[in-house]
Amino acid sequence: MKKENATLLSRSDISEGLFIIRVKPDFPIPDFIPGQYVALGLLTEENKLIKRAYSIASSPDQKDRLEFYIARVDGGALTPRLDKLQSGDRLYVSPKITGTFTLQGVPAGSHVVFISTGTGIAPYISMLRTANVWQHNWKFILIHGVRYEQDLAYKDELEKLAKESDLFHYYCTVSRASEAWQGERGYVGKFLKDGVVQVTPESNHLFLCGNPAMIDELSVFLTQRGFKEHKKRSPGNLHLEKYW
Ligand SMILES: Cc1cc2nc3c(=O)[nH]c(=O)nc-3n(C[C@H](O)[C@H](O)[C@H](O)COP(=O)(O)OP(=O)(O)OC[C@H]3O[C@@H](n4cnc5c(N)ncnc54)[C@H](O)[C@@H]3O)c2cc1C
Repeated sequence: MKKENATLLSRSDISEGLFIIRVKPDFPIPDFIPGQYVALGLLTEENKLIKRAYSIASSPDQKDRLEFYIARVDGGALTPRLDKLQSGDRLYVSPKITGTFTLQGVPAGSHVVFISTGTGIAPYISMLRTANVWQHNWKFILIHGVRYEQDLAYKDELEKLAKESDLFHYYCTVSRASEAWQGERGYVGKFLKDGVVQVTPESNHLFLCGNPAMIDELSVFLTQRGFKEHKKRSPGNLHLEKYW
């Protein structure tokens, strides 16, 4: 029977219902490719394991813990329970890490555009934190869309990276910003539609992660412009990871 096999090391609360957890499995963390995901779970009072998929936000270079960025879904089976966890609490981490939402097969020198809503930023954080990702002459643009400005997790880390590297550019946008917010407003798609970020199927690989409505809308926009969805057996330049 599957048992809780990992310990929560620490958590950071980003805003109401959005939190980052760092987890140490009892087993050595297997090698993985940045962008992949794993199942996390908790046992119910009836000893039933509830499991869901979560993208890993930490780099495979970090061997002693796994980081996850999680949204509590009110009424959901697992996330309200995950949101109650504190340091030292036990949870289940599947020993199998899997997924094809990675940079594998993206040609050297490509201009890579990462688009995310909410916690969909997690796989990109793993990629950008990984040393060998910077050895392929790739250029990266990351676009993050959230509802409220306080939901902009990883903003400081990404702004610092953008300052330090000519190979990385960061945009964020807020759909329900307060009056005080001085940055971009609206949805992530506007950067493509307004031509602020210009993409062509010849030179770009596009990654879309998070809210399925955003992914459906931008997939139509991009396939109409010649992008092809990436599949394991039929490689393309449009990489999709729907969270629900
Ligand atoms: C490959 C993959 C990677 C994922 N990585 C992450 C991650 O890094 N971080 C993360 O927070 N989630 C991630 N998810 C979503 C996660 O697996 C769960 O679906 C989510 O946490 C809800 O679980 P739950 O048991 O609380 O809700 P459930 O009881 O499973 O679902 C309740 C309802 O909420 C909907 N729902 C699920 N997620 C959301 C959401 N975020 N917002 C609004 N409605 C939602 C479902 O469609 C369902 O109808 C990922 C999903 C996949 C497939």
